[in-house]
Amino acid sequence: MKSGFTYREVCPGVLHITDPLGVHMTLLVGREKALLFDTGYGVGNLLSFIGSLTDLPLTTVLSHGHHDHAMGAMHFPSVRMLAEDLPVFRKYTGRGQRERILRQAGLKAQAREQYLSAAISEPDALEEDCFYLDGLSARVLRVPGHTPGSIALLVPERELLLLGDSWNRETWLFFPESLPVRTYAASFRFLMSHPFKKALAPHVEETVDREYLLQFERGLNEAGFAEAKPAIIPGHEHIQVRAFEPCPGARLVFRA
Ligand SMILES: [Zn+2]
Repeated sequence: MKSGFTYREVCPGVLHITDPLGVHMTLLVGREKALLFDTGYGVGNLLSFIGSLTDLPLTTVLSHGHHDHAMGAMHFPSVRMLAEDLPVFRKYTGRGQRERILRQAGLKAQAREQYLSAAISEPDALEEDCFYLDGLSARVLRVPGHTPGSIALLVPERELLLLGDSWNRETWLFFPESLPVRTYAASFRFLMSHPFKKALAPHVEETVDREYLLQFERGLNEAGFAEAKPAIIPGHEHIQVRAFEPCPGARLVFRA
């Protein structure tokens, strides 16, 4: 049976997975252990899909508490996330959000009911600074901005950064739980202070080069914030936002 999940191996032991609704997550497979970064919308049986890719002991870590990364936690006995994002997780994994997701998912009646009623355990507090998988490691980088408890992961052995929602082609900072744009900019500069050559983002299919993210970083400045124009984000029309392009092809959207 088709699982609805697909993946591509970006480099040895690093799998960029796409869930049935199109959001990405990353599986890191070391020699002794595996780590899953994010869990997608929770539509489809993610745990059995991961089981088809690796049988190593698995740790699951959430980049932050939004539904499109965290709802899939319903398939796992436990996941970890920074405690700062627990209020976000509680707000975004309830029934109302599940009903909104189901409008895009096209599930059959029984699967719909299961999805709506599935228990989801609260994430355990993420306290590790680094996960060692033997041959691969994942260093936790705290990047408050998109949400207070957002993290990225640095995989030094592959010179790779896993961005979480701290960067996408359109980076969103307009949620009530988002922090001020200058706080985000400081977090982004902190990310860029680490050694990596390539990056993966959860809403971008292709691998992103460091050089491009450096251009984006250079655009995060007072002149850019001042030139940001009012914008309308479909599905979030009730929020007053401003937007600008820190570099061509990437947009930053923040609360007006
Ligand atoms: Zn998010």
